[in-house]
Amino acid sequence: MTGRALNRLTGAPSPLPGFSVAGLWVAEHGGLLNGLSVPAGTPLLPDARGVLTWTSHAGPACTVTFPVPLETLAPLGSLETALTGLAGEGRWADWLQVSPLDRNLADELHRFPLEDQMAQDLTHLEAVCRQPRTHLEIFEERQLVSRARQIPVRAVTYLASHTEDWEARTLRGVRPRRVITNVRDDLYDIYENRVAARLVDHLTRYVRVRLARVQALLNGLDTIDLNAQAPPTGMHWRQRRVYQLWGESLDLTEAQLLARERLDELGRLLYRLERLSVSPLYTQIPARRQVPANLRLTNILGNDPHYRRVARLWLAWFRYAHTGFTSIQEQQQTAQHVAAQFDRYALLLTLHALEQFGFAPVTDVALHPGAILQLRGPEGDSELDWHADGTFTLRQAGQVILRVVASPTPLGQLRTEDVDRAASALKTEAATLTAQTLLLYPGEARQTPVAALQAVSSDPTRLHPNLSCLPVSTVDLESVERVARVLRLVLTGARFTAYPPTFDTALTLPGHVIPDGLDSRGAGRWALVHPLSSLPETWGEETERRQRAVDEATRRANISSQDRGAQRRAQRDAENRQNELNEWTAFLTAVEVSGQHLTHLRRCPVCSAGGGALTNWADDQFRCECGDCGATWSVRRCQSCGARHPWLLPHLHTVPTLEAKPGWADQLYGRDVLTLPDPFDLSSYACPDLRGE
Ligand SMILES: [Zn+2]
Ligand SMILES: [Zn+2]
Repeated sequence: MTGRALNRLTGAPSPLPGFSVAGLWVAEHGGLLNGLSVPAGTPLLPDARGVLTWTSHAGPACTVTFPVPLETLAPLGSLETALTGLAGEGRWADWLQVSPLDRNLADELHRFPLEDQMAQDLTHLEAVCRQPRTHLEIFEERQLVSRARQIPVRAVTYLASHTEDWEARTLRGVRPRRVITNVRDDLYDIYENRVAARLVDHLTRYVRVRLARVQALLNGLDTIDLNAQAPPTGMHWRQRRVYQLWGESLDLTEAQLLARERLDELGRLLYRLERLSVSPLYTQIPARRQVPANLRLTNILGNDPHYRRVARLWLAWFRYAHTGFTSIQEQQQTAQHVAAQFDRYALLLTLHALEQFGFAPVTDVALHPGAILQLRGPEGDSELDWHADGTFTLRQAGQVILRVVASPTPLGQLRTEDVDRAASALKTEAATLTAQTLLLYPGEARQTPVAALQAVSSDPTRLHPNLSCLPVSTVDLESVERVARVLRLVLTGARFTAYPPTFDTALTLPGHVIPDGLDSRGAGRWALVHPLSSLPETWGEETERRQRAVDEATRRANISSQDRGAQRRAQRDAENRQNELNEWTAFLTAVEVSGQHLTHLRRCPVCSAGGGALTNWADDQFRCECGDCGATWSVRRCQSCGARHPWLLPHLHTVPTLEAKPGWADQLYGRDVLTLPDPFDLSSYACPDLRGE
């Protein structure tokens, strides 16, 4: 039997699987989490080994394994304090004042103290690894006589009793085949050498993590730099939006130089350390020979000129890079904190993306889990619910249009086999999704392991039609833009596919001119497929006719009469005439509202210019083109699968040569794209579902 928990992805309780991704599960009831008692509503997060043991008060005990990332999570930097401060009392405006970018990102580009120490002392570690001190050890071993060098006294008595080692018996005695000999051996496995070998491991790990981080920072800086200039493709709206988030006077060029310098230096250190891992010393010490982090200063470590510096380097590592051993409580606390912070970060990105679409709060309320924020914007009135479990949903007209869930697992930093398992676990969970869901996880766009983990639900490479997965990072300026692309799909995409606007009326319109844009959709249902240039003249006459009839009937009903029956009939007649007029006016209003829908539809989603030229054709398909920026948007029905896909393609001045790597569309179009075109033929409207196969 398995335990149950609240699944954040679906928002409903379900049985815990044997393998999952961290951040998806929340305790429904109180219970024991990795042996610690926790209340209901606690996120179910694994321990440092990636194992979760959970015993709910209301269910049996169960164990879930999680993929463990190869590296520790990158710090949130300046966002750490900002996000903590916002949670609970921050309002819309307060949240939007916080840049989604780590403001201290340049701090990490300087040389860290441990790196200084390595620059000074690494040569000594190299010397030790090349020519280590050894213990001379002499032990006895049975060897062939021809190989024996030094024979201990005991050899004679041993030989006397071991006939199997005799070669032959002669007149004078025994001729031995094998004798006991003294063998000398250099013993490498002494404490000091273990220190050196383990120090190589520790430093290698440190340098690897640092390299990855500086590389991420440099990628971030390059992105900022790239967005500081107008792109040749002409996608300057995207560039301006992205760059606005930066807006700081940090000297980019200098920071980039510094980052490259650091990369070179760390690369050289890594090269030297990797060479040490094939040195005589390192290969002689088994990997399982561990050394406690607290160094014991032995004679050699204190006095030998090389070992002394090795000890100094160890102490520097201990001081600056050793994370220490944490208790289960501390580990859980940290994990819970990291998960909660990442939830907030996901909200911050979403709020910035919403603001880009022109949303503003109706009444500004403090945002906290459980709060509901009413929003108004060009894409329609919406509600943002921040749920108690840390996820949030966007609703329109009572319908959930997007659910956002954050997972603290950096899916790009897992072992290959774990990535595949994680992806298939997510796919399994997504099968029960009822609403469009966005999963955000920490990561760099450039290290996406599989395309499905950086795809929006409409992309050919997506994991599931209802699930979008995107990496976001505090050093990646384009994170907001990626989130905005998902919003674009659920807001604009849904608005496009809602074409044409329809309405119902009980009116019959025989004898009336039906204008071209109005299309009958069966009994009493009409669709406005094209804007009406003007209303038919007969419609105006009809309004006047019905108004006159009302006036006439009202006048008659107001004449007092002795005949009660006649009076009632006259009144009923007046009411009927009024209803007929109302029905007619309601029809005209519906036509007008539908016209407004089309006006909105003709407004360019990229540059907001109105009045795009609309062409419509069979099967509720349409195409609009912006006269200002040249963007085109349309809804097209696929002839093979029958699905209607919304399209939005900004006009590109020059078409870049694309490598269809994960995230190519984010880099080219940003948020301003719906159904992804074929990267090798951007002008083709081929069905993405067929392309994905
Ligand atoms: Zn435009
Ligand atoms: Zn299709």
